[in-house]
Amino acid sequence: MTWLRPLPTVSPGNEPFFAGLAQRKFHVLKCRACGDLNWTPYPACRSCLSIQQDWFEVSGRGTLYTWTVVHTGPKAFTQEGPYVFAFAKLAEGPRPLIVMGNLMGCDHDAIKVDMPIRIAYRDVPGHDVTLYHFEPA
Ligand SMILES: [Zn+2]
Repeated sequence: MTWLRPLPTVSPGNEPFFAGLAQRKFHVLKCRACGDLNWTPYPACRSCLSIQQDWFEVSGRGTLYTWTVVHTGPKAFTQEGPYVFAFAKLAEGPRPLIVMGNLMGCDHDAIKVDMPIRIAYRDVPGHDVTLYHFEPA
């Protein structure tokens, strides 16, 4: 299948995140001032606005926070419908760390709030890019 989805734009600010995906690791920013974990990558901590942040590898384990089944997505996604757009709450804290992505590899009728999930990885065919998604744990 031809890859129709838009690919991420890698920049100096998010390059460590995408390099981690290629190694099957999920990184978020950890604030040196308050210890909070932040996702998506952003120049300042969302809790205290400190710009002193370091990349931190998380477990990739969590639970499903919420989801929706998309039957007719935007043009680049029409070949993939129906698909599940989800938010997962990762196991790490101290504040809930919510990550968005697609939930794959399960019957849509079996999806439930708080079901255990894990982050999984896939290389984009023909491109030097690795993406992540969720799957049941
Ligand atoms: Zn902070």
